[in-house]
Amino acid sequence: MNGASEERLAEIRSRIDRAAKLAGRRSGEVRLIAISKTHDIAAIRPVLEAGHRLFGENRVQEAQEKWPALKTDYPDAELHLVGRLQSNKAEDAVRLFDAIHAIDRPSLIGALAAAIGKIGRTPLCFIQVNIGDEPQKGGCAVAELPALLDAAQAAGLPVAGLMCIPPAELEPAPYFALLAKLARRHGLDGLSMGMSGDFETAVTLGATHVRVGTALFGERG
Ligand SMILES: *Cc1c(COP(=O)(O)O)cnc(C)c1O
Repeated sequence: MNGASEERLAEIRSRIDRAAKLAGRRSGEVRLIAISKTHDIAAIRPVLEAGHRLFGENRVQEAQEKWPALKTDYPDAELHLVGRLQSNKAEDAVRLFDAIHAIDRPSLIGALAAAIGKIGRTPLCFIQVNIGDEPQKGGCAVAELPALLDAAQAAGLPVAGLMCIPPAELEPAPYFALLAKLARRHGLDGLSMGMSGDFETAVTLGATHVRVGTALFGERG
């Protein structure tokens, strides 16, 4: 048992609870995704032992190396893919992940729909929005969102909501608020937003999934 993981988990959960309460929300509406990318199995196990079951990785291959062993010991662990997905890895992703957060283009929607049909597993899907319209960032442009959502729904993907990473160095609140507005406009309940530096702000603005790595596992090597 690793007391440090347990303490950090408890602290993050209580910060989520406080932020939810401040916004008049129930803390049960907010799920904490422990982002374990770059951390090895030995670092992840104590968080599982502390009772946490929801994790996120950003690379398919890294997750394939780590999670089959962990899922053998913790079959109820839930794994989300939060990073960019190449279409040629869609089948691997559908096999391993319970949710996919970074769907951002029609070709990937097609590849995922085909993979879901072939493998017979259906991960929850989030559309990533390039909420700050930054040229180098993943996610669809805000203006492309309606067409991409139509395409995802037409392909039969179970779209749970929207995901974003606001521009670094800028106050994130307006970007979180915009993502929340877009989700409402399209009748979507899920909002995957907020990382170590800004998850409380995200919770006050409606996040249903916060993605926290560094605050839980420490700095990445
Ligand atoms: C790494 C990562 C996170 C976690 O970031 P921290 O700042 O370490 O909490 C969240 N979301 C995505 C998409 C990531 O790649």
